[in-house]
Amino acid sequence: MKRNKQPGYLDGIKRPTDMGVCPACGNAVILSTQQSLSETRVKPPWFSTYESILLAIERGGGKDPHSDRKFIHWACNHCLRTGKAILADSRAQTFCDCYPYLAYFDEQRQCQECGAMYIFDKHEQKHWYETLKFWVQSRPNCCKACYQKRHPDQKSISP
Ligand SMILES: [Zn+2]
Ligand SMILES: [Zn+2]
Repeated sequence: MKRNKQPGYLDGIKRPTDMGVCPACGNAVILSTQQSLSETRVKPPWFSTYESILLAIERGGGKDPHSDRKFIHWACNHCLRTGKAILADSRAQTFCDCYPYLAYFDEQRQCQECGAMYIFDKHEQKHWYETLKFWVQSRPNCCKACYQKRHPDQKSISP
C-alpha cells in the first residue's frame, strides 16, 4: 500500500485535526509544520513512528507515565524564533523508555525542601540532559540555594 506522506495524514487516513497546543506558549498550532516535531527529529529509536508522537500530542499532550513530566517537551516555531524555547538534540540524551526532549523551555518548579518556586532554566536543562547525560526522566528536586546548602563542596550543576 502506498503511504500518503501529506501532512495531517496517517497511513492514508486523515487525522481529525493535526492540531496541538504548544506546551511553551499555550497556542494551538498545526503539528506537522513544527520544526521541533519534524520527522527527522522524532523518528526512531525514540518513537515507533513519526506519526505516533503527533498522535500522542493530539490526544491530550502525550503525558509521560515514567516521570513527573506532564507532557512531551516540544515547542512551536514561534517559541523557537523568539527564543522562548530552544531546540533539543534528542540523540545526545540518555533514555530508556521515556520521552526525549525535543525542545527546552523554562519551567517553574517548587523546591521540595524550602517550598520556594524556582526556574529550571532551558539552558540548564540542555546541560543536564545533553552534556551531563542525566536520564531524561531525572528532574531537580530542590532550588539552587538548597542544593548548595546540602552539597557545600560541590559547584552547582548548572552550566
Ligand atoms: Zn509556542
Ligand atoms: Zn529550596
